[in-house]
Amino acid sequence: KKTDFIQSSCNVGLVGHVDHGKTTLVKALSGTWTEKYSDEINRGITIKLGYAEAAIDQCPNCNLIIAESVANNLRKSKKDQKGMCPNCGTKLNFKRRISFVDAPGHEILMATMLSGASLMDGALLLIAANEECPQPQTREHLAALGIAKIENIIIIQNKIDAVGKERAIEHYNQIKDFVKGTIAENAPIIPTSAIFNSNIDLISEKIEEIIPSPDLDHDSEFLFNIARSFDVNKPGSEIEKINGGVIGGSIITGTISVGEEIEIRPGFRSKEGKYSTIITTVESIYEGRNSLNSAKPGGLIAIGTKLDPSLTRSDQLIGNVAGIPGTLPDVQYSVEIEAHLLKEVLGAEEEIAVTPIIKNELIMIVVGTSLSAGVVEKIGKKNTITLKLKRPICALDGSIVAISRRIKNRFRLIGYGYLIS
Ligand code: GDP
Ligand code: MG
Repeated sequence: KKTDFIQSSCNVGLVGHVDHGKTTLVKALSGTWTEKYSDEINRGITIKLGYAEAAIDQCPNCNLIIAESVANNLRKSKKDQKGMCPNCGTKLNFKRRISFVDAPGHEILMATMLSGASLMDGALLLIAANEECPQPQTREHLAALGIAKIENIIIIQNKIDAVGKERAIEHYNQIKDFVKGTIAENAPIIPTSAIFNSNIDLISEKIEEIIPSPDLDHDSEFLFNIARSFDVNKPGSEIEKINGGVIGGSIITGTISVGEEIEIRPGFRSKEGKYSTIITTVESIYEGRNSLNSAKPGGLIAIGTKLDPSLTRSDQLIGNVAGIPGTLPDVQYSVEIEAHLLKEVLGAEEEIAVTPIIKNELIMIVVGTSLSAGVVEKIGKKNTITLKLKRPICALDGSIVAISRRIKNRFRLIGYGYLIS
């Protein structure tokens, strides 16, 4: 049974140093623990974006804008009716739905953050008041927002409950110094306590002001970045009851409806390492637990297909793209990138200068949700490099590429670039 559920129209990323309160804040804004969905936490480093969504409501009487679960949290007693304005008690009206992308905070996952950033219409940058600002990942994530040109930023000065007034002011000034000259220079700074739910109502209001839903591009073909893939069947299910493979991710452009055919590229990898395109049919579309007949760009969605679930099990299709058959870009085993290097390596405790890329070195790239590594075959004019990839990619010309290199046993972001054909 299809509902009148309205799909979310805006993705808000949560970024910032580990333990500064991202997951706690998502819980306060949406009522959902994103970590609950990380059912394969111990499976090593794969792209896992925590995901939650919130309905943003407005009071028709006093015009207050507030996330529904925040309003419900502000009820005086649990017995009070839900969905009412905490100021004046009027029934709230639905305004729009937003989704949260709780990006992983560890520096080793920087490239993942950047790939997630391509799914963000705006971001909340969390900075905990009980630590000096900036911490390594605070700097790194702000730089990533700059690279991905995510300008709609709200700074959350969190854990304000853990410090005194003087320290709060000192920390506020540290933030101001830190963001000077960056993409977040004019971002508002909201002091909060995510754990005690204080000032969380102000965040919903600021999100309405600072992070509008993007205009939809109605002319482009359907293009979907696959961020996860699953087999949703319980072990031992009867054959007739088996569900087809599910792909999760984000629609970049266009729309898709139940019953349409899609193509997935680079596709299935044979034992010999050859890739072959996959064609299948869309059987169902979900946002969270809600079923949709068709979907457009917005929050993360899951598409149920007719595929053999063994093809989608355990995120095997991460980094693939889906589109209408015949419309996808060519699969590339070798790419040319116009590279821009950073002055210094981000996310390291000490300062490490970025040295030029050299021939034959191993570089890791992330394009959309696709992660690959390659050896530099050629250094061309105007900062172009040619990489021979270990895993092919399928991406549009001009796509943004995050470039990392191995430094002291870790891949560290050293720059970004654009795919050229
Ligand atoms: P993340 O790594 O950024 O997702 O951080 P978490 O949301 O997991 O929070 C890390 C720790 O900080 C947890 O123990 C939280 O309970 C705590 N925490 C989060 N927000 C606040 C806050 O506003 N005040 C205080 N005192 N602790 C907080
Ligand atoms: Mg977290």
